[in-house]
Amino acid sequence: MDQILISPERCLGCRSCELACAVEHFPGKDLFLAVAAEEPPVARIFVETDGKTNFPMQCRHCQQPQCVNACMTGALRQDNETGKVIFGQDKCVGCWMCVMACPFGVIVQDWRQRVALKCDRCPDRDVPACAAACPTGAIRFMPVPDYSKEKRQRYLTMFVDEEGQND
Ligand code: SF4
Ligand code: SF4
Repeated sequence: MDQILISPERCLGCRSCELACAVEHFPGKDLFLAVAAEEPPVARIFVETDGKTNFPMQCRHCQQPQCVNACMTGALRQDNETGKVIFGQDKCVGCWMCVMACPFGVIVQDWRQRVALKCDRCPDRDVPACAAACPTGAIRFMPVPDYSKEKRQRYLTMFVDEEGQND
């Protein structure tokens, strides 16, 4: 199964992923209407930076999700088949236990509706909007074994280059 996988070394910090995520969750999914809206849509992905490294972060759909354990109303649950952590807004009472429990800080407050807000992995799309919008491939939707193989091959290339320099 494909997963959203991040390669931070490729991230430019352009925030195209944040914009695409926000537009994807705006009624009609129209960029110009979304940008001009009185209440602009909110992204569910966050590009953090320390000035040198940029790192896009969103819900990791953890195997043992602490947000699900913390949610007292059942608004957050894990789908047994896909492993996705699913949020049911109608059950959310805005207590922010999930916000406090998430180790990554990627569940935030929808201050307009006073409910939690998190990545839903774009259920209307084959490829999530953030991954489709990223110009550099810093966010990709792919099988984990392919990602791991690519990393091993990159390491091999670096190793060979370094060995070559030391000759
Ligand atoms: S998968 Fe969809 S909802 Fe999740 S961060 Fe990417 S664009 Fe946003
Ligand atoms: S779109 Fe890609 S390069 Fe731009 S900030 Fe997001 S992850 Fe980084």
